[in-house]
Amino acid sequence: MNIHITCTPEFSTDKLREVVELLAKIPGEMSFHYLEPFTVEQSLIINDKFANINTLQSLEFEVFFRYLSAVRLLNRIAQEDFLIVITSIQNCEEWFSAFNKKDVFVHGVEWDLISNVDAKFGIAHQCVENIFQSLIKLDIDNYETEPNIHMKSIGCINDFCDEKSEILIKLKSADICDSCYNRALKEGVSDNVIAHILEITEHIRKEFITSKRIRRKHQSDVIRIDSDGNVIIGERQVDMTELPKTLYIFFLKNPDGISRIDLCRRVEEVKQIYKVLKRDKFDSESISESITRMCCSKTKEGIKIEKFQSTLDKNKSMVKSALKTELGEILSSLYAINRVSLEDKTSVFKINISPDNVQIDPSFLEE
Ligand SMILES: [Zn+2]
Repeated sequence: MNIHITCTPEFSTDKLREVVELLAKIPGEMSFHYLEPFTVEQSLIINDKFANINTLQSLEFEVFFRYLSAVRLLNRIAQEDFLIVITSIQNCEEWFSAFNKKDVFVHGVEWDLISNVDAKFGIAHQCVENIFQSLIKLDIDNYETEPNIHMKSIGCINDFCDEKSEILIKLKSADICDSCYNRALKEGVSDNVIAHILEITEHIRKEFITSKRIRRKHQSDVIRIDSDGNVIIGERQVDMTELPKTLYIFFLKNPDGISRIDLCRRVEEVKQIYKVLKRDKFDSESISESITRMCCSKTKEGIKIEKFQSTLDKNKSMVKSALKTELGEILSSLYAINRVSLEDKTSVFKINISPDNVQIDPSFLEE
């Protein structure tokens, strides 16, 4: 059984690759394939709403499914194959995912609001969950009366998870209840496919359980910025290029977190850090430009407003992969810049460690 996974143009292709890699490395009946995403221009042919892709609030299910049909058609994907699109565009029901026959879309962002485990695990779970649900012909249009959608979580792959936090129960249970298993047999789903789905969910479950304990043990490690601006965590020096390092130091200096809007408002402070790191290689114009593009998503000159895609996510990912190289997958998410939701339903980006564990050498940043 072939499963092709792609994304909408605004979504990170690195993350897409990570999800496909994670699924493909667990052997079994299903083969997972990376499918090159459409560009904004190609997406525009399908729906003109994609012209405003970076400010798009949410889309109807119908639009997502039309998008999937077009991707399927243009890539000549066989009818019996599954096609999955990962997207950061919210859907009107705010569901994690949905399917229509063998077309699936999965919400690929905000996983860091649920857990500090890397988003790829939650996304991968959504992929196999939808394949299972499609195979047993689950009626998601009438989810309230569908007997195999559990409105109250019981730790089954078909838990509805109305409350976002309930998804963790599902991820940690990695199970298919008797009723859903019998339905799969009735619909003729082979045991090999069910076994493969369970292998994958089990792999994901381990990530949500064990890694948590290891992280807790490491929470006392100190992050140091020495006088030369090197980032040192515990005993290990983490090498980053200047732009992501600038972002990282700025967040270390602001332990309560920063919203997207405030990051742009404080762009001058960020530039100051960059300037110190660059020293004599400082070319004010091009530096100013790259920092602005990282911190903001528009600039205003007189009455002229220019909108662009911010490089914040890209630089956050670079921080994460630098951490991963030095500390490994599990510990890297502990020290990464994550999105955290606040009580008033807004969110900030922050490094979720105690400010007591951050030491910045006072001679760094001195002129
Ligand atoms: Zn069930």
